[in-house]
Amino acid sequence: MEEVIPGIYLIKEKSSFERIKPSENIYVIAGPDGLIFDAGFGNKKVVKFLIKEINKIEQLYRNNKEDFKITRILVSHGHPDHFAGLKRIKNALGVKIVLTEKTADIIKNKKSFMKSFNADSYEDYLIIQKGFRYRIRSFLQKLMYSFFFKRIYGLSFIANPDEIIKANTEISINDENWKVFPSPGHAVDHISLYNQKKGVLLSGDNILSKTTWLGPPNCSISDYIESVETIQKLPNLKIILAAHGALIKNPGERTLEILKHRKERTQQVIDIIKGNIEKGTSPDEIIQKLYPNKKKMQIEITRGWVCLTLKMLEEQNVIKRIEGKKEIKFYSTNKL
Ligand SMILES: [Zn+2]
Repeated sequence: MEEVIPGIYLIKEKSSFERIKPSENIYVIAGPDGLIFDAGFGNKKVVKFLIKEINKIEQLYRNNKEDFKITRILVSHGHPDHFAGLKRIKNALGVKIVLTEKTADIIKNKKSFMKSFNADSYEDYLIIQKGFRYRIRSFLQKLMYSFFFKRIYGLSFIANPDEIIKANTEISINDENWKVFPSPGHAVDHISLYNQKKGVLLSGDNILSKTTWLGPPNCSISDYIESVETIQKLPNLKIILAAHGALIKNPGERTLEILKHRKERTQQVIDIIKGNIEKGTSPDEIIQKLYPNKKKMQIEITRGWVCLTLKMLEEQNVIKRIEGKKEIKFYSTNKL
C-alpha cells in the first residue's frame, strides 16, 4: 500500500490470472470513520492480501496514536472487478456494504448480473440475432460466466446491501464532505466520489491513463462524453485516483485528451460511411478499415466502441441503417 494523498491509501490488487486481467486499484480513505472505494477481486488469496495491507494502515495509525476504523465499502459500478470482493471483505472486516440502487439491482444475483451483459436489444451488437454466429456468441457468454467471472474474479453476489444511497448525494467520511455523483457511460450505474476541498476525485473506470473500454449493451458514448465533461468542470480538481493503472495528476489535460480521442474516433466512422455512399457499410467493414492488421480476438474487443458510435450516430440522425438478411448496412443521411 501507498499513501497517495494524505489519509488516502492505494492498494494495488493483482488478480490470480494477471495475464488476462490487469491489476485493480483499491483506495482506502483512512480515519476514524473510513471508507474503502471499490472491492476488487473476490478470490480468497487476493482478499487476504487486501486485508493484510489494510491492517498495515491500521498499524501506522495506531503507532501515531490516531483513530482508525473502516466502517464502509462503496463500489463505483457493477462490473466484476469492482464488486466481486464485497462479500469476503465484509466478512473479514465487518464493514457495511454501501451501494446505489442501480448497482444493488445489477449485483443482487446471477440472473440480473448476466442480464446487464445481455440486454434484450442485443442487436446493439449489430449482428442479426439469428444463425450460427449468434449461437456462438451466446455460448461464449455462458463460458465467460463460468470461467472468467467465477474463477478469475472470484465473483459473489450481494442480495442484501447494508445501506442504499442515492446516486447523487453527499456523504461524510471521517467528518469530511464527499460528493457522490452519477457518471454513466462506461457502465449505466457508474458513480464517482469527489472531495472538492482536497481536489480529489475517485473516478472508477471513467478516467484512466489508458482508454476506457466502451461496449454494448450497457455503455453509451454520449453518456460517457457527458460524464467526462462533468468531471472536467469539477471545481478545484487536482488529482484523479483511477481504478486501474497510474494516478492522473493532470486531470485537465487528460479529460481533454479523452474528449478529443472520442471526437476523432467518431469522425473516422463517419468518414468511412461517407466514403461508401452507394453500397452502404456494415459494422464489420468499418472495423476492418479501422484495424486492418488486428487479430480476431482484438477485433472483438474493439467492436464495442464502433457499435456504440454507430448507435449514437443513428440517434443523432447522422447515419441510417438498412437491415438485410445477413447484415446491417449503414448509409449517411443528408445531414452529412
Ligand atoms: Zn468497469
